[in-house]
Amino acid sequence: MTFQSSQLFQRDLLRWYADQARDLPWRERDDQVVDPYRVWLSEIMLQQTMVATVKRYYEVFTEKWPTVFDLASAKEDDVLAAWSGLGYYSRARNLYRCARYVVEHYNGVFPDDESSLKKLPGIGDYTAAAIRAIAFNQPAVVVDGNIERITSRVLKFNGVLPKAKKELKKQASFLFEGLSDSHGDFPQALMDLGATICSSTSPRCLLCPVQAHCAAYHTDDPELYPCKAPKKKKPVKYATAFFIQSDDGSFYMRKRGDEGMLAGLYEIPTSEWKKNILNQNDVKDNSFFNLIKKEYGKGQITHSFTHFDFVVDVLSGDVECQTILPDGEWIMYNKIKNYGVPTVMKKIIDEGRRCIKKA
Ligand code: SF4
Repeated sequence: MTFQSSQLFQRDLLRWYADQARDLPWRERDDQVVDPYRVWLSEIMLQQTMVATVKRYYEVFTEKWPTVFDLASAKEDDVLAAWSGLGYYSRARNLYRCARYVVEHYNGVFPDDESSLKKLPGIGDYTAAAIRAIAFNQPAVVVDGNIERITSRVLKFNGVLPKAKKELKKQASFLFEGLSDSHGDFPQALMDLGATICSSTSPRCLLCPVQAHCAAYHTDDPELYPCKAPKKKKPVKYATAFFIQSDDGSFYMRKRGDEGMLAGLYEIPTSEWKKNILNQNDVKDNSFFNLIKKEYGKGQITHSFTHFDFVVDVLSGDVECQTILPDGEWIMYNKIKNYGVPTVMKKIIDEGRRCIKKA
C-alpha cells in the first residue's frame, strides 16, 4: 500500500508523535504556552546544525537573554561570543538585528504573517513557515532536510537533488494537504520521524508509523531516496597563521571587518588565503612574521567550510613584550570565551599552543 491519503498519513504520524515526541528544550511542556521568541531562536540555531549541539547553545542563550528585549539590548560582541563554535556566523548577526527590529517595530511581539516575517533579518521561506506553524499553529508547509527526505521516500520521488529541490518542496505539500489542526505538531512530528526513524543512511522501516503509506518501503533500498547528484570535490585554500605570544602568555588577536566571511569575529592574523600552496615569500614578507623574535616551529590544521577546505600552517613565536599593534588585542587563553572566536581560529590557537608547549 502506498500514499493514498494525506489524512491517514497525518493521523498515523500524529498518533505516534503523541507518544514518541522528542523532549526538546524549546518545545512547550503540557501547561506552557508556545513562546515565539524561543521557537524563532531554536529555528535559527537549528539551520545547518545538529540538535545535540543546538541544545547547549540554546540553553546558554535563553539563560543570558530570556526574552527578545534582553537579546535586543545585549552587545553584538557578546552575542557573537555566545555563538562561538556554532558556525555560520551571519546567523548570529542576523539574530541580533532581528531581535532589535522586533523590539523597535513590533514592540517585542513577533508578527505571525508570512510577509512580515520574511522582512525580518535572517528569516527566509523555511523559517517563516516554521514560526507560523510551530509558534502560531497556522497552516504552513514546512520543509527542512528531514521533511525532504521523508517526502522523497513516501512518494518515491525520482527527481535528482539539488536541481529538483523546488519540485520536491511542492511534493511535500501533499503530506500537509487537508491538515485541519495540529499545524505545529505535524511538521515537528515529521522532523522527529526523520531524526529518529527515517534517517538518511539506515531507515528503521519496521518501526515506522507511516510504513503503510510509504512507496520506498517496497523497494530494496529506501535509503537511496532522495536521489542526489554526486558531490563535487571542494576546492582547497591555503594560508599561514601567525600565533604570536607575549612574555605574559597572552597572544594577539584582531577583529575582522564588518563584511564578508567571519565578519566581526576575532582572528589570529594570517597571510592571504590562496588557492595554491604558499611560497616562502608569502610568509617572509608578512609583517607579523617579522615581529617574531623567537620561533617555536610550525604546525598545521585543516578546516572544512561550506564552499572550500582550508589548510593552515600555524607558525608560533614570541614577540617583544606586548608589541603595540593596531586593531587588535592581547588575550589570555582563559579569556577567549568572552570573544567571538570561530572554530577555525580555535583550532589555530590550540595548534599554536601545542607547538609552544612542545618546543
Ligand atoms: S517506511 Fe522506511 S523509508 Fe518509508 S518513511 Fe518509514 S522509515 Fe522512511
